[in-house]
Amino acid sequence: MRFFSTRQDTTSRDAASARVGISAAITQGLAPDGGLYIPEGLPDLSAEINGLQDKSLSGVAKLLLRPFFEGDPLAPELDAIVDEALNFPIPLVDLKNTTALLEVYWGPSAAFKDVGARFLAGVMTRVDQRQAQDQPLTILVATSGDTGGAVAAAFHGRPGVNVVILYPDGMVSARQAHQLGAFGDNVRTFAVQSDFDACQSLVKAAFQDPEFRANFRLSSANSINIGRLLPQATYHAWAALEYKRRHGKDAGVIIPSGNLGNAVSAIWARSMGFPIREVVLATNANPTLSSWLETGKYEPKPTQATLANAMDVGAPSNMERLLAMFSLDDIKKFMQVVRVTDEHITETITNAPKVWGQVVCPHTACAIYAREVVGGEDWIVNGTAHPAKFETIVEPLIGERVELPPALAELLSKESNALALEPNLDDFRAALLR
Ligand SMILES: *Cc1c(COP(=O)(O)O)cnc(C)c1O
Repeated sequence: MRFFSTRQDTTSRDAASARVGISAAITQGLAPDGGLYIPEGLPDLSAEINGLQDKSLSGVAKLLLRPFFEGDPLAPELDAIVDEALNFPIPLVDLKNTTALLEVYWGPSAAFKDVGARFLAGVMTRVDQRQAQDQPLTILVATSGDTGGAVAAAFHGRPGVNVVILYPDGMVSARQAHQLGAFGDNVRTFAVQSDFDACQSLVKAAFQDPEFRANFRLSSANSINIGRLLPQATYHAWAALEYKRRHGKDAGVIIPSGNLGNAVSAIWARSMGFPIREVVLATNANPTLSSWLETGKYEPKPTQATLANAMDVGAPSNMERLLAMFSLDDIKKFMQVVRVTDEHITETITNAPKVWGQVVCPHTACAIYAREVVGGEDWIVNGTAHPAKFETIVEPLIGERVELPPALAELLSKESNALALEPNLDDFRAALLR
């Protein structure tokens, strides 16, 4: 399987030089022309799905991912990469009213981003080892909260890799801040005295700085990497098969969405023949996606801050991927968007324990609310973060403490060390060289 850039026109797509294998697509992150990598096609796996013996998550993941690794030097290592990435439970919990909750939040950072980050780490470290580099790889991550923790946890303790996290001081939750500074060893954490955009600018500036480039071998693990989307398709695929096994019906999936990474993964699984009836995007109050489906015009908007802050996105980065692979008419046949205000998030978090028997984070609350709005039968709601990660919002609403998941509890029991950093490149360089 080959991958090309969303910005290549169809004629240049035929040129062999314009296409790369999965290892290159993942290590490069962004295509040289600034576009995002997409597969040359999505294989139809319907026949293989029917004949599949091992219908566990890992069995489904290996079946789904194999075609994308075909012909790549990493193909023989795919099974090991999958087992390493999916080494925590992802339960599908039946609620009531033909609704199930897919809990993708029992990994080390308690959010679904662990799946993509761990898979990416498995691929990147193996590609790097093959090249037998003598200088360690330095991965720079700017984070507004969830991505940094997932990437740090995925690379923590891996030889030959260092991780540098930059987060905006005072703009992530207290638990997120503690978590980001608690890794130590090969992970260094900086609390930047500014906002998320300043963190991102520092990372970009470092990549362009000759002195940085002379002293470090830099890489990034950012969220538009195809190495994060492909593994996410595997839990959507497994959950749809498992739902059908239990209930005999195809389920629709409802996905809390911001940059559309998780949703594009679900759409890919559906296109490959897994029994996903339709896809509902649950957004927070940011209106870009809902107005796009209403008007047919895609217009990025300034970002609004909401209670579901990991979905505070005005210009979803994976939109370019969706539009390069599907027409609006096709999309409308299987997708709808439900926009959820902060009032509805609050109401849903408050009522969910009684109505659904679940304590939910503000992001998962958007999907639960959307489930109530769309009605009908047979839905899988995607749970994207553990509620204990957003305890300052959730606990006052439900009037009780939320127990920490074990992985997060362990991290929070460690000492946390983040260095305060002014948002300028000279200070950043000096701090890293020290
Ligand atoms: C990142 C994130 C989302 C949004 O996922 P996208 O792939 O960006 O659409 C939703 N919920 C949580 C908890 C997240 O961390």
